[in-house]
This record gives sequence, structure tokens and C-alpha cells, in this order.
Amino acid sequence: MEELYQALGIQKEVYGFGQQFEEKLKPRFAELDKTAEYNQLKVIKAMQAHRVSAECFMGTTGYGYNDLGRDTLEEVYAACFHGEAALVRPQITCGTHALALALMSNLRPGDELLSPAGKPYDTLEEVIGIRPSKGSLAEYGVTYRQVDLLPDGSFDYGAIAASITEKTKLVAIQRSKGYQTRPTFSVAQIGELISFVKKIKPSLICMVDNCYGEFVEREEPLEAGSDMIVGSLIKNPGGGLAPIGGYIAGKKECIENAAYRLTSPGLGKEVGASLGVTQSLYQGLFLAPTVVAAALKSAIFAANIYESLGFPVIPDGSESRHDIIQAVTLNSPEALIAFCQGIQAAAPVDSHVTPEPWDMPGYDDKVIMAAGAFIQGSSIELSADGPLRPPYAAYFQGGLTWPHGKLGILMSLQKLYEAGLVNL
Ligand SMILES: *Cc1c(COP(=O)(O)O)cnc(C)c1O
Repeated sequence: MEELYQALGIQKEVYGFGQQFEEKLKPRFAELDKTAEYNQLKVIKAMQAHRVSAECFMGTTGYGYNDLGRDTLEEVYAACFHGEAALVRPQITCGTHALALALMSNLRPGDELLSPAGKPYDTLEEVIGIRPSKGSLAEYGVTYRQVDLLPDGSFDYGAIAASITEKTKLVAIQRSKGYQTRPTFSVAQIGELISFVKKIKPSLICMVDNCYGEFVEREEPLEAGSDMIVGSLIKNPGGGLAPIGGYIAGKKECIENAAYRLTSPGLGKEVGASLGVTQSLYQGLFLAPTVVAAALKSAIFAANIYESLGFPVIPDGSESRHDIIQAVTLNSPEALIAFCQGIQAAAPVDSHVTPEPWDMPGYDDKVIMAAGAFIQGSSIELSADGPLRPPYAAYFQGGLTWPHGKLGILMSLQKLYEAGLVNL
């Protein structure tokens, strides 16, 4: 084993350093395997209940009428996530599109959208119109209100109550911290927030941005009272196999609204050919629970290694996890670049290229990105990125298998070690 690691470029010292953490983390990894086992059973149960069969993998072209595989997959998603219905489509191009669809289809002019947990994900700023943008909700007369979290990261219940008016129609809650420094919310915390706002106004639609959260816990936000959950298939629930797509699951009425907006009034869910991708959406969902466990093991392994070397990490090495993102503050541009180059060098695809910081559209600072993925932009696959500005934090996530996640992190450490940026 050690020889093979050496052949891949991991020195003895680095390998040895990593091994002690793997030993120490065994009980924690066993817990993750139990969550994966539970979620695996949940997925299989949903697939059996809806009689997934070989015919489901055929796919349709053109209008896509009577697409058995597509319709059954939506029933499977609904069952698995405890919704009445679901929309799971390759025509939903990404997570942002799924979120925009859920919002735009369930809000009408004059309604107000409330974010009770601070600033939403960057790309939603233009969807909402926080940053003026063509086609935003603001252009259609939907207003927006935001209540920031308290300094300790908890919900500001007083201010939230005061922000719910007769106009408030939809409450949007983002489960994952994304690229912010706040903690990620657990499903239980989200549930408390939802019961609070629904007590004030029972008709509110509560939408949860579930990106990076699927299968991390045993429960999903629909079980905690949300009306809609929304996510991307090139993150957790696609299991690394889905080549494209997004989903919305939840209340029948919310999903119908979304379907009429995605296609057209009058057409809704009846159209939308699945082309050749249906089988990979099923198979990806089937693999997702264990893939998410692998990503979590990788994140926890990295947190423990880098924390022990004195780098601030969020979440820390021992706290409970509610999403798959790991931030490692590397304190210098050299260390951030070395970290990302290590992740790239361990990839199964494009390991021979060296990522460099570049001026990415939409960002003020240069950004470095490492991704050697089978599916372009897939962030359930091992990937890392970070803006070249203090405190030089790398955000990394994914890992389709634990051995690959481990290799990636050891390789990142190897690059830092080679550059004399850490002492082991
Ligand atoms: C990734 C992500 C999105 C947007 O998804 P894209 O597929 O990148 O458009 C939205 N919210 C959160 C929390 C995310 O992690």
C-alpha cells in the first residue's frame, strides 16, 4: 500500500502522518456508515415501492409524453424525501435554476419573499434582484426582506416575527452555509424555524435550499415541516453519475406550479423528454447515500489533519456535520495554491494539469479551482476552490469514494510539505 502511495507521489512522512488520523477517526466513520446504511435502505424502499423496472431506463425523445422512467423517478424522489410530489428533470440546468424555478413559480406580483437566515447563496442575489438583474423577481414586483442571523449564528426570532406581514408568501432557508462562515443548519434547527414562522402565519410556503445537504442526516427538511426542498443533481443526490439536472420535492401544489413554469401553463409535467439520462439519475440516487458518506469522511479527515497543523478549519475536526463542505484557512496564497494543486494532482481526470489563479468573471479577486471530474463542474466529485485574498481559505467538498478523498487530502498535504509550508 505504502509503495503504491509513493508511486503516486505521497512521501512516507505524509502517508504516516495521515494514517494516525484514519485510525483515530474509525468510530466516527462507523457512524457515517450507519447513516449511509439507513439512507441506502430509504432509497431502495422508494425504488421498490414504485416498481422501478428496466423499462424505466428507456427514455423518450421529442415531447416526451408518457415517459415512464421520468414519471417514476419523480415518484421515487418524492417517496425518498417524504414529499407529495417531485420534479426531477435534466431540463433543470443547475441548482440556481431549480431555486429560481421554485421561487418564480410560487410567487406572484405583490408577494414578499423572506430570508430569515441571512444572505442567500451568491447566485440567488440576481434571481431575487438584490443585485439588479434582467428577469429577477424584483422586476416582476416581488419584494424581498432579509433578517440576518444573530452574532452567535442563531436565528433572530424577534426580528423574524416582525418581518412577517400580510405580503409575506414564501420563506427561503438555506441549509448549507455555502461559502459563508456561519454554521450549516441541522434539519432539526430548520424544523424549529419553520414551526415558528408557521405559527405566526400558517399559509407561508417554506422552501429549503437543500444543496450539499442531501443524505448527510437521516431526515430531510420535508420531514421537519418544509413545503419544498430544492437541489442540484451534480451535487449529493446525483451520486456522481447524474450528468445534469435539478430537483424540487414537496407539496403537490408547489410542484405543480414549478412544472407549469418549467414547461408551460397547460403542459406542466406531461412534457420533457428524458433523452438518454434517466438510468444515470436512478443509479446516481441509488449510490448517493454511500457517496455522501465518502465525501463526509474526506471532509472530516481533512479537518482533523489541517486542524492539527494549526490551520483554522470550519467545521472543526469533531463537530457534527450537516453538509459536505469543508473550509480550510491556509493563511497564505502559496499554501492555498499548493492545497488546490494537490487536490488536482490526485484526480482521476486531468491530474496532469496544474490549476493557477485566474480572474474569474463575477469575482473581485483571483480564484483558484481544482477539479478533475468526470462530470464538468460536479462538486460531489472531489473539488476545491478559493479566492486569492486573506485569509486564503480553500473550500473543498466531495469525493466519490473515501480512498480517493484520502488520496486527495494526502496529496494536498504533500504539496504543502514539499513547498516547506508545513512541518510534519
Ligand atoms: C451550489 C449551490 C447553489 C447553486 O447551485 P448551482 O448548481 O451552482 O447553480 C445554491 N445554493 C447552495 C447552498 C449551493 O451550495
